Amino acid sequence: MKVRFAPSPTGYLHIGNARVALFNYLFALKHKGEFILRIDDTGKEAKVSFEKSIIEDLKWLGLSWDKFFRQSERKEIYDFYFEKLQKKGLVYPCFCTKEELEEEKKKAISSGKPPRYSGKCKKLNPQKIKKLIEIGKPHTWRFSIPPKKRIVFKDLIKGEKSFDTRELGDFIIKRSDGTYTYLFSSVVDDLDMKITHVIRGEDHLSNTPFQILIFEALEHTYPAFAHLPLIKTEEEKPLSKRWTDLYSIRRFREDGFFPEVINTVLFNLGRGEALKKILPLHEMANLFNLSDYKGSGSKFQLDYLKALNRKYILEMDLDALAEKLKDFCSVDVEKEALELIRENATTLSELCFLYRNIILGIYNITLDEEEKEILKDFVSSKKSFEEFVTENKEKKKKIFKTIRKAITGLTYGPPLKDILNFLKEREILRRIEKVLSQ
Ligand code: GLU
Repeated sequence: MKVRFAPSPTGYLHIGNARVALFNYLFALKHKGEFILRIDDTGKEAKVSFEKSIIEDLKWLGLSWDKFFRQSERKEIYDFYFEKLQKKGLVYPCFCTKEELEEEKKKAISSGKPPRYSGKCKKLNPQKIKKLIEIGKPHTWRFSIPPKKRIVFKDLIKGEKSFDTRELGDFIIKRSDGTYTYLFSSVVDDLDMKITHVIRGEDHLSNTPFQILIFEALEHTYPAFAHLPLIKTEEEKPLSKRWTDLYSIRRFREDGFFPEVINTVLFNLGRGEALKKILPLHEMANLFNLSDYKGSGSKFQLDYLKALNRKYILEMDLDALAEKLKDFCSVDVEKEALELIRENATTLSELCFLYRNIILGIYNITLDEEEKEILKDFVSSKKSFEEFVTENKEKKKKIFKTIRKAITGLTYGPPLKDILNFLKEREILRRIEKVLSQ
């Protein structure tokens, strides 16, 4: 079995397309097949920087690939298959300008008809076409749809799907600058790379009949299709390929979520039964079945991701957690210290913040007069914290708050007693004296 993930490098990898990548990866792993990463970069909006970031994020998620391709490097292959269609008379040049097409579309919509291409240029006679090409009139190439045909295929998730070619307009496969459109290059790649299963978001379901027609025109069988219901954002909007910043893997990575937690959330989304545990990818692959994702799109919930990440931090081996934090935070991490603070952290960035404040004592605060008085009294009493509190019972609450603030820079965190035990007298006094002197 052979599958591919084919992102367009027009934005960051987000949880919607990361899920498509994950599912393709798991499918290949389960069936001991091949997983191909193909960058669909023939569109105008493609950017090398996005390709780079998508690759980094996939690697970070642990989704490695067996082969790598870039569509922009495969023009000769597309030319080859395009000529086949040309020889068979299945494509024709279209000289309509953008303005003419816009006009046609507007008219169709206002008269209640679907906005598809009228087929105007299909009617041009060969002499006329020759002349227009000779004078260098810009033109695209359109695929000529068979006039009356039913396209039926069995989607592995959506079940049987059927389309009538009378509802489809002749579509552009080659642009006027000689590049090929996604609909065509994707089919050529899928057949050239012998892809057996196309697993992608349901936003591509409407492309499938066009693509099947190209496969058939090239006398090729087509792969099995599986269209996944789209994830919905917290605002109930479908998370299609255009979403970037808010739901990007990059953001979650920078916020300090773990890749294995993200993979688990993506695996569970839309699945009847959620995984009870965070599993490594090879174990997840054994449990992976496309048919478990038949339901309608599920909502991505940030709180669920946070809850799982928090649990993961709490249950993680201390050495491993220390290592992760060291990389994330660029500080030397004392693993015993993590016991004290991990309970209060949902992400690595929160853990980093707590580590800097509570363990390393790095923070800036300003104290009011009352707080300063309390701290001065405490220092000059030369008593232990407990004794000092017992002697000043009426101000107990305020003392707790002030000491916490003075020695951690925070108003929340682990129980103060535990912090005091951990830091020991000398460090406590050092921090108090330091904030008093500021
Ligand atoms: N480049 C397309 C996308 O990013 C690929 C769709 C497909 O898998 O065929 O959505």
